[in-house]
Amino acid sequence: MAQVISDRRDIEFVLHEQLEAENLSKIHEDFADFNKKTIDLVISEARNFAVKELLPSSKEGDEQGCTLENGKVTTPESFKRLFDLFNEGEWLAPTESPEWGGQGMPKTVASAAAEYFNGANYPFMMYPGLTQGAGHLVEHFGTQEQKDIYLKNMYTGKWTGTMLLTEPGAGSDVGALTTKAVPNGDGTYTITGEKIFISGGEHDLTENIIHPVLARIEGAPEGTKGISLFLVPKFRVNEDGTPGEFNDVICTGIEHKMGIHGNSTCSLSLGSKDNCIGTLLGEENKGMKAMFLMMNSARLLVGFQGFACATTAYMYALDYARNRIQGKDLLEFMNPDAKSVSIFRHP
Ligand SMILES: Cc1cc2nc3c(=O)[nH]c(=O)nc-3n(C[C@H](O)[C@H](O)[C@H](O)COP(=O)(O)OP(=O)(O)OC[C@H]3O[C@@H](n4cnc5c(N)ncnc54)[C@H](O)[C@@H]3O)c2cc1C
Repeated sequence: MAQVISDRRDIEFVLHEQLEAENLSKIHEDFADFNKKTIDLVISEARNFAVKELLPSSKEGDEQGCTLENGKVTTPESFKRLFDLFNEGEWLAPTESPEWGGQGMPKTVASAAAEYFNGANYPFMMYPGLTQGAGHLVEHFGTQEQKDIYLKNMYTGKWTGTMLLTEPGAGSDVGALTTKAVPNGDGTYTITGEKIFISGGEHDLTENIIHPVLARIEGAPEGTKGISLFLVPKFRVNEDGTPGEFNDVICTGIEHKMGIHGNSTCSLSLGSKDNCIGTLLGEENKGMKAMFLMMNSARLLVGFQGFACATTAYMYALDYARNRIQGKDLLEFMNPDAKSVSIFRHP
């Protein structure tokens, strides 16, 4: 079968000859198990999953797209099963600590796997990708209680995560945001505001969605200096850890973007019934700086999307050129009996 996502030989060359990835097992005790055999096994599993499961649902996912009805987003039919399989394979948090449900593998190895995944179906990959990034925020800035409530559920894909920065009047100029946070006196805040373009902001893949939200505490300075970060779940979490009362986060619209119809890009209304509660993540007025931890993951993810998409396009073109029989080999151009050859063989 033609290689349809990434060239296997290229990936093996980069991992083993250029980066000498197995040396990580010798210099870092956390990676002691990641010798060449293990790395090859991980990459082979990733390739199989990408080719057999992710790739076939990519076209169908884009054609079906997401739909919005009464505030509920339905994702493409195949995505639910894919998301469960993805989580069974423990692919959502490959580099994160096993203590929180991660696999603890080197980033180098996880990146090679991510090239296959994103090349096969990047609209799907945005759901786990954003979740991993949101999990990083909880891991780095969360209190022990916040970590205990959210982190394992996110890194194992039981709940997904998002990032809520953009507003109708605050895109590039995110410091202009107007989402408000009012202290309730019990350590929580009532959040009110409108967010737009939120990837995975609402969907039917998981029982809860955890939104890291940029908002301004009443009386805080204008601009980016007065922005704080809050954790706002779609459903508040009960004492026993299960999702409870609806937290007044309503999806009011979804965008239609060429090639990414399978990923829901949502407009979200927070606290339209004055009943949206969040907890501070990190320090007051330090939200912008904290959010950059996730922005950095998001930038890597977008980079991977572009790179993996271009690689897949190249592999398709190569396969086409190999199989399309047309025209004569230039060396045989004057020979009237010469057979047509594949485009690939034209010098
Ligand atoms: C598919 C998709 C998914 C997204 N997911 C998320 C998400 O999960 N969470 C989230 O919070 N946001 C998300 N966004 C929003 C994204 O972060 C914003 O689109 C981005 O911040 C830019 O804002 P904007 O679209 O309002 O563009 P604008 O700010 O309106 O900018 C439009 C153009 O004008 C240029 N421009 C703006 N200001 C200036 C200036 N002062 N001088 C010169 N040029 C200027 C910009 O460079 C850009 O080219 C997503 C967007 C897309 C397309």
